[in-house]
Amino acid sequence: MTEQTTLLDQERWEGIYKLMEHPSMLTPDCTEEPEKLKTFLHSMKILVIGAGGLGCEVLKDLALSGFTDIHVIDLDTIDISNLNRQFLFTEKDTGRPKAEVAAEFVNKRVEGCHVTPYVGNIKDKPITFYHQFDMVISGLDSVDARRWMNATLVDIARDGQIIPFIDGGSEGFSGQVRVILPTVNACYECGMILIPPPVTFPMCTIASNPRVPEHCVEWSLLEFPKAHDGRKPDGDKEEDVLWCLKCASERAEKYKIEGVDFKLTLGVIKHVIPAIASTNSIIAAMCVNEAMKIAMNALSLDNYCQYSGAEQPYTNTFEFSKNETCLVCADISSEIEVRKDAQFDEIMTKLKENPEYQMKNPSIQLPGGIPLYMRALAQTHDNLQKPVGDLFESGTELAVTDPVFPQGMFLRLKVKFSNDE
Ligand SMILES: [Zn+2]
Repeated sequence: MTEQTTLLDQERWEGIYKLMEHPSMLTPDCTEEPEKLKTFLHSMKILVIGAGGLGCEVLKDLALSGFTDIHVIDLDTIDISNLNRQFLFTEKDTGRPKAEVAAEFVNKRVEGCHVTPYVGNIKDKPITFYHQFDMVISGLDSVDARRWMNATLVDIARDGQIIPFIDGGSEGFSGQVRVILPTVNACYECGMILIPPPVTFPMCTIASNPRVPEHCVEWSLLEFPKAHDGRKPDGDKEEDVLWCLKCASERAEKYKIEGVDFKLTLGVIKHVIPAIASTNSIIAAMCVNEAMKIAMNALSLDNYCQYSGAEQPYTNTFEFSKNETCLVCADISSEIEVRKDAQFDEIMTKLKENPEYQMKNPSIQLPGGIPLYMRALAQTHDNLQKPVGDLFESGTELAVTDPVFPQGMFLRLKVKFSNDE
């Protein structure tokens, strides 16, 4: 390193270095060795998941806070509609991968900082990929991706490496930040029961008994492919939205339902969660503040902070308790109760529909790896209609896998029979 670049670095991070040199809550016992702390901060390897509204802000904040070894993964490409809040992108970047453009921008703008991009799905990376990081920050809008990442980090923690997981989320004027120390405090899955399953309308209601304007728009979504060679409507194409609006309006008129308009139609097509730039920047700043605390070995958030800016800025911090029977991080197996004569299918339904499970397509094995139900194994499908009492004893611990969780991750589910006293 030349003298000139050293000087540049010194200037670049001057504000951060000042923070480190003065005793504060952020620098618990390291003030006598600020040099060591500087090296430590610069060498921390951080993975940012998502380079969207939150991700862009997180990347910018990390880079300006002295983190210099940053990695970012995102599978998405830039759309023109992102530009109102994803400030690392400009119009000429549309169509290019978000991770790549975000990394280029930060690398060019913040000298001494290096962002490494990965274009792709987090689920396609081997678990060894995640071992290399000191911290993971997620700015995702997908519950599924968070569950997968959380389960992966819990798995790594079980092998002795605890990688702090800072999870930021924003929705309209509200948001939250969680600091998850896998296996140590509450994990993402511990709070699944608080996350409402996605709203879906029964097909029969949409087809024959629409009552609210959303039902009419859902109807138009079903009609759209029939008129467009099987293609689904694209919420970013105005002509698609207008087609659906027209179709939904006709339906609404027929059933005398009011309230179908462009905004509602667009919302239903895109399942839009309104994104507000200021909420994103507040949540991202809170995430990076936590990253700083972890990097400096200071006391970090314990462990959940809610933010709301709808009426006035408001935050509430509380300790979210570990769920002792959490499917992912608990030491004991999760328990489920069914009647002895209930069909096995009832367990499958509970796993898919109960808020604490919300699985997609579980496969289930008996102890010893005997398949009880596997989608790919047709001979196991008959089991769905059999009474559970014919398949196993009360108290049996089943091994469950699901696409929501990393491949090969078995969750333990103890089944008790309720009428078997
Ligand atoms: Zn948990």
